[in-house]
Amino acid sequence: MRDVSATQVSGVVVTKWRVVDNVQLLLTVMGQADEARLMCTCARCHWIVREKSAEGGNKLLATCHNCGNRLELRLEGSGLLAA
Ligand SMILES: [Zn+2]
Repeated sequence: MRDVSATQVSGVVVTKWRVVDNVQLLLTVMGQADEARLMCTCARCHWIVREKSAEGGNKLLATCHNCGNRLELRLEGSGLLAA
C-alpha cells in the first residue's frame, strides 16, 4: 500500500475513498490508478472522516485523531458518490 502525505493532497480531486479498519482513509485521486493511504504530517493514519455537501461540490473532511490536523479534500462530482 502506498502512503500519501497530508501535504501532498492539497488541490487534488478525490474520485473514490473508503475507510478501512475504522480509521484509515484510502484515497483514489484523479489521474492516479492506485489507492493510497492518507498519512498525516504527524505520521499517523488515524482519521475521523465525514462528507460535506457544499456549493460547488462535495467535500471530504478528514481530521487527524492524533494531532487534530484538518484536511478538506475536493470530491469529484456527486454522481459517483450520491447515495
Ligand atoms: Zn496528525
